[in-house]
Amino acid sequence: MDSTYDIVIIGGGPAGYRAAETLGNLGRKVLLAEGGLLGGTCLNVGCVPTKTLLNSAKHYVHALEGERFGVKAESVTFDLGKMMAWKREVVDKLRAGIAAEMKHAKVEVVAGVATIEAPGRVSIALVGSPSGAAAQTIECRAILACTGSSPLIPPIPGLRDNPLVLDSTGILEVTAIPKRLCVIGGGVIGVEFASLFSSLGSQVTVVEMMDEIVPFMDAELAPVLRRAMPAIKWKLGCKVTSVDKGPGEAATLRYATKEGSSESVEADLILAAIGRRPNTEGWGADTIGLDRSPKGVAADARMRTNVPGVWAAGDLVGKSQLAHSAYRMAEVAAADIDAVLGAGDGAGHSHGQAGGAQLMRWDAIPWAVYSLPEAAGVGLTEKEATSRGFAVTCARIPLRASGRFAAENGFQAQGAVKLVSDAATGRILGLHGVGSYASEAIWGGAALIEQEMRIKDLVELVLPHPTVWELVRDAARQIASKS
Ligand SMILES: Cc1cc2nc3c(=O)[nH]c(=O)nc-3n(C[C@H](O)[C@H](O)[C@H](O)COP(=O)(O)OP(=O)(O)OC[C@H]3O[C@@H](n4cnc5c(N)ncnc54)[C@H](O)[C@@H]3O)c2cc1C
Repeated sequence: MDSTYDIVIIGGGPAGYRAAETLGNLGRKVLLAEGGLLGGTCLNVGCVPTKTLLNSAKHYVHALEGERFGVKAESVTFDLGKMMAWKREVVDKLRAGIAAEMKHAKVEVVAGVATIEAPGRVSIALVGSPSGAAAQTIECRAILACTGSSPLIPPIPGLRDNPLVLDSTGILEVTAIPKRLCVIGGGVIGVEFASLFSSLGSQVTVVEMMDEIVPFMDAELAPVLRRAMPAIKWKLGCKVTSVDKGPGEAATLRYATKEGSSESVEADLILAAIGRRPNTEGWGADTIGLDRSPKGVAADARMRTNVPGVWAAGDLVGKSQLAHSAYRMAEVAAADIDAVLGAGDGAGHSHGQAGGAQLMRWDAIPWAVYSLPEAAGVGLTEKEATSRGFAVTCARIPLRASGRFAAENGFQAQGAVKLVSDAATGRILGLHGVGSYASEAIWGGAALIEQEMRIKDLVELVLPHPTVWELVRDAARQIASKS
């Protein structure tokens, strides 16, 4: 490690490594400090391990259901140890891939915990160095904070320090499938784990405080997703009040229903999937007076913080806790940092100073739930569009109208696509769906919205047949016929 760099990046998750790669390829001298594992939450304990396990569960379910489609497999079982080993292999190989990308971009990666001492000065305590060893001080022209987020465990009596309660990181290492799993929280992470364990044979109960799961889903589609997972018990509008400890035994989770009664559920394992808290403390944000709240560090459309010379990106910013949002924030920040350094201002940005031409846009960020089946969406829901003052025209089509969907899932399978448009102009405002391949198809919706395309443009696009998501075009045709 040298003592001076153009940029020090704190945190090697999607935000940190994408910014490092971008700036390294632009010829900047970059130090990327990672206190844990390169790849961050997403690669090590988030997106990648969950999707790898869900894929194993999908193979299992398909084998069990194969007979309906003329494929008979005798005595179908699964081997959790092998699933976990495959998950580790995938994660390890992808982490090696990121390390290779960093090398290729000439980014120096250091295993160390970074603390900002002042704008332009960062100290790095090397991981594994003896306690009391002095941290190394680095001078730099810009700092990008990408410290990510951590699971939130609320102060519910009996939840903390209970061996039967795990967070999303802990549950990725289970050695046996619990007979009864209770998931607190029906957000994306809760629903994905509920689907995974339900598919592998657990009796799963999801307790969600809101009236519906996945709060940002279109109100018409969230029930479709729930119905598509009939083995899961959904307790909506229910607030967990306590968890009774019971090492070695089942735990009892008590909750209040919205009608005011007190009910309980027994579980062999409880997953706390209540949300994630941006990591705003412990790395000098307070020392330099960064504008922040428990919701995250404040950053403008170029990802500049209130402190000149310091940028922030990813989950830390608290606006969108998704890996692809982190990538984009990182690219925008990197472009701005490069422009500011190119302008020769070693003291970092100042307010109003011209910077990178790229600005962060938040209107067309897709999301996906990779449960079995999947759900995905982008843009405004019908309710959001209406509350923003649009007169909307919507079309909703059940996926069994797709030949491919029916062939692959049967004619009773749940799934739907919904298109939301502005009645006045025909502009496409939102696309939402539940059903197979939703996560793969949704980028098309992002393109429609980013390009401000209209219903008349969409009906003139040619989409491949037979595909499930060609129904998006049929939804547009329905809207066009109404106007
Ligand atoms: C179970 C689960 C499933 C998920 N699935 C998806 C999904 O399917 N799709 C999706 O888009 N998103 C998913 N996410 C969210 C996704 O993981 C995050 O949005 C993404 O990781 C954010 O990237 P980041 O770089 O901001 O932060 P992180 O990935 O959290 O990386 C931050 C890094 O900073 C390091 N760090 C922190 N402080 C310091 C310091 N002082 N010095 C040095 N290093 C430091 C940490 O060790 C960490 O490695 C999932 C999350 C979870 C928990």
